[in-house]
Amino acid sequence: MKQTVLRKYDVIIVGGGPAGAACAIKLAESGLKVALLDKATFPRDKTCGDALSVDVINQLAMLSDELVKSFTALANKIPSYGVKIFSPNHQFVDIPFIYKNEKSCGYISPRFNFDNVLFQHLKEHTGIETFEGCLVDKVDTDENKVTLKSNAGDFEAQMIIGADGAHSTVAKSLGNITVDKEHYSAGLRVYYGGVVSFHKENFIELHFFKDILPGYLWIFPLTDNKANVGIGMLSSTVSKNKVNLKETLQKLITTHPNLRERFKHAKPLETIKGYGLPLGSKKRNISGERFLLTGDAAALIDPFSGEGIANAIRSGRVAAEHIIKCFQQQNFSARFNKAYDNEIYRRMWGEFKISRLLQQLICYPWAFNLAVKKAHQSKYLQQFLIEALASVEKKKKILTKPGFYYRMLFK
Ligand SMILES: Cc1cc2nc3c(=O)[nH]c(=O)nc-3n(C[C@H](O)[C@H](O)[C@H](O)COP(=O)(O)OP(=O)(O)OC[C@H]3O[C@@H](n4cnc5c(N)ncnc54)[C@H](O)[C@@H]3O)c2cc1C
Repeated sequence: MKQTVLRKYDVIIVGGGPAGAACAIKLAESGLKVALLDKATFPRDKTCGDALSVDVINQLAMLSDELVKSFTALANKIPSYGVKIFSPNHQFVDIPFIYKNEKSCGYISPRFNFDNVLFQHLKEHTGIETFEGCLVDKVDTDENKVTLKSNAGDFEAQMIIGADGAHSTVAKSLGNITVDKEHYSAGLRVYYGGVVSFHKENFIELHFFKDILPGYLWIFPLTDNKANVGIGMLSSTVSKNKVNLKETLQKLITTHPNLRERFKHAKPLETIKGYGLPLGSKKRNISGERFLLTGDAAALIDPFSGEGIANAIRSGRVAAEHIIKCFQQQNFSARFNKAYDNEIYRRMWGEFKISRLLQQLICYPWAFNLAVKKAHQSKYLQQFLIEALASVEKKKKILTKPGFYYRMLFK
């Protein structure tokens, strides 16, 4: 009979997306014996809008200068200098990206290429062993160790990091986390060739329609005359209104007066792909005895914008810092690991709460239409939107002041 090999590590990271890669890169110099397991072989696709916010670029810089150099050298990306928001009655407002009071840019880069930059960077570190094509299907902990079963054999570690995305096996097995449709979105993506009439500075476009609020349809320009097109909608609304998202997306781009001309000669380059977005609008237990959850496995996606890459990287980095403390103090208990939850929510909860509020406000189409109309006319509101995109603190201050709503509606 064939003997199963048991491989032993200090830390095992399940998932090599932005969260897992960031965690591994941060642990590379720690002296710990680390393994990263991913069911895919890189480069691999990830269903996503491919929009990398200014925050993502800042997060890369916090990981390593070499990584920033590799990202800068990546050919298959374009800079985007702002966002164009279309209200349900299809008026729009342009909001440029500003960082530290200066014009700034994010990027749109297919995840096939972006994630591979991170993955190849972590592979350069000798302290990390990577296993690709390694599907983890069972995880258990006891007071002495964590054990994992995979198609590549059995593993054992002192500590495990769940970085295995929205459908995380680690979160289901150890965190007992289930889908809550009030705090979860369904998303579809399809790459197109030949969509026309983009903003000259490659602004990303969010199109809000009455029937899909608080979700939106997005069109993000890519290199080579391509575009990332998709739709995201709160899962509870999808179920309640029995929405067929695929049909809704196709109907909007082929029949809506503002979109059909732009898609007249456009061709889909793939079949439509779907994936879940676990939103950060509800606090979860994201750690326990010998485990931490990061990125989508911990549900850290912004509930308004649907962005999750920056928080995935941020949480991977914070997890690595916490793991180092666990080993220094030889403490892997659920109680000790609560400090990780506290640190994550200290950094992110303020923004999630504001985004949840925005998500609820825009469910009133008349208010949304009015806000976009006013933003066209009012320098005050334009300035607010620019500053709010750049700073959570600013967003918090203004949105929680009743005077803001008064000025927006009546001035
Ligand atoms: C349709 C859609 C559009 C989006 N658009 C944007 C956007 O434009 N900008 C943005 O910032 N965010 C966007 N997001 C969110 C973003 O994609 C995620 O927040 C981000 O990918 C989270 O990174 P992660 O590392 O946590 O997980 P992932 O990127 O999902 O990586 C998880 C990794 O784990 C591996 N894995 C999974 N299960 C196992 C297993 N059992 N065993 C071994 N390996 C496993 C997978 O192969 C994968 O490589 C979008 C999401 C969706 C669904």
